[in-house]
Amino acid sequence: MARALSHEIVIVGGNFAGLSAALELPAACDVAVVDPHPWFEWRPNIHELVSEVKKPRDLRLPRRRIVEEAGHRFLRDRVRGFDFARRSLQLGGGRRLDYETCVLALGGVSNDFGVAGAAANAMSFKTVDDCAAIGRRLRTLAGEKRALSIVVVGGGFEGIEALGEVLRAYRRRPDLEIHIVEMAPRLMADGPKAIDAMVRRRIADLPVRIHCSETVLRVTARRVYLESGRRLPSDLTIWTAGARAAPSLDGAAVPRSRDGWIKVGRDLACRDLDGVFVAGDLADPPRRFAKQAYHAIDMGRHAARNILRRRRGEDTLPFAPSDKPMLLAFGDLDTFLISGSRVVASPLLAAAKEGVFQATIAGFDILRSRAGRQRAGGRGLRALKNLVLPKFGSARDLVGLLSLRVGGTRG
Ligand SMILES: Cc1cc2nc3c(=O)[nH]c(=O)nc-3n(C[C@H](O)[C@H](O)[C@H](O)COP(=O)(O)OP(=O)(O)OC[C@H]3O[C@@H](n4cnc5c(N)ncnc54)[C@H](O)[C@@H]3O)c2cc1C
Repeated sequence: MARALSHEIVIVGGNFAGLSAALELPAACDVAVVDPHPWFEWRPNIHELVSEVKKPRDLRLPRRRIVEEAGHRFLRDRVRGFDFARRSLQLGGGRRLDYETCVLALGGVSNDFGVAGAAANAMSFKTVDDCAAIGRRLRTLAGEKRALSIVVVGGGFEGIEALGEVLRAYRRRPDLEIHIVEMAPRLMADGPKAIDAMVRRRIADLPVRIHCSETVLRVTARRVYLESGRRLPSDLTIWTAGARAAPSLDGAAVPRSRDGWIKVGRDLACRDLDGVFVAGDLADPPRRFAKQAYHAIDMGRHAARNILRRRRGEDTLPFAPSDKPMLLAFGDLDTFLISGSRVVASPLLAAAKEGVFQATIAGFDILRSRAGRQRAGGRGLRALKNLVLPKFGSARDLVGLLSLRVGGTRG
């Protein structure tokens, strides 16, 4: 039998929350990060893979090198079993991994809510691989000489970003029809009301049909069936309708919310379990806030600081989510800056979104190394070529770019 591994601090999941926790812990701590995937993935921009203005390499960093540069150990493996009572994890490769303190940062996966045929016939929209596959499939379909129908399920921020990228790449293709289906009475139901009207204005002349207050009952290879009895033809169904906790935790003895997220106290320590902190999308804190990468980064750092406080015999501190505005992209048609109930819209804001991406991903990269500097330079040049320069294609585009609109009132 393989020898058991043991580390003082084990971080399960090495993306935004897990990697931020690892980078916050000094090299003097005995830390291991476990993740089955070799790449750190920048998920907030994966919609841009749908139009192929970004390539997978723009959104990925080598996870092992980043963890090792921080003085820690990277284990490329999947945790399959959680024995919190024994402080022991079962790795997919067969080994046992014991810990004193564990940070759970496994994030979530796409949730099809058990809709018949969704798993087999709809493409999920959660990871770099998912969105790169959607981009390739769209390119193939668009090259075929026939009418094309695309259905986006979910009209939240992911659905709006997916729709925007399909329009960026293919809105001039003849015989294209796009449907977006949302259960709530309007798009972006958990955000400001103004977004729905702003998106509708932008697509007024485009071949898009919005179906709000509609539930998907069944998905087949060629159709999406709605509860109202409508059937939408679909050559490609993109599923953005929800998320649930990573399935590896199913069956683990840990307090969960109804949708599977792990209940934590205000200090991100897991209730009723010693030595377990939870950070990022997986955490269900007493006061809920949006599952966003910038919160996941802050939570990872906060969990690490609380672990260090406990080791020094100090009290842990509560986590306070920062009140950052959110940038929602709508392809090259518009970008929305959302702050509480206020919205500012302008295609020029795409540059701000790209700036946040370039600066934050560079913050995770190994800029001390030549390879890291080359990656950062390559990302910047490709963004200039694919995102910025095409915006200055015509005088009409330039006038459109300068339009700035303000909306208000949360619904
Ligand atoms: C399309 C889209 C657009 C988004 N746009 C934005 C945006 O504009 N702004 C923003 O701030 N946020 C955005 N988000 C949300 C953001 O991506 C998430 O909040 C963020 O990824 C959460 O980080 P995390 O570290 O908690 O989890 P994740 O990023 O999901 O990482 C979880 C990690 O855990 C690993 N893992 C899973 N199971 C196991 C296991 N059993 N063993 C070991 N490792 C495991 C996974 O491989 C993964 O690396 C967007 C998300 C999507 C999908």
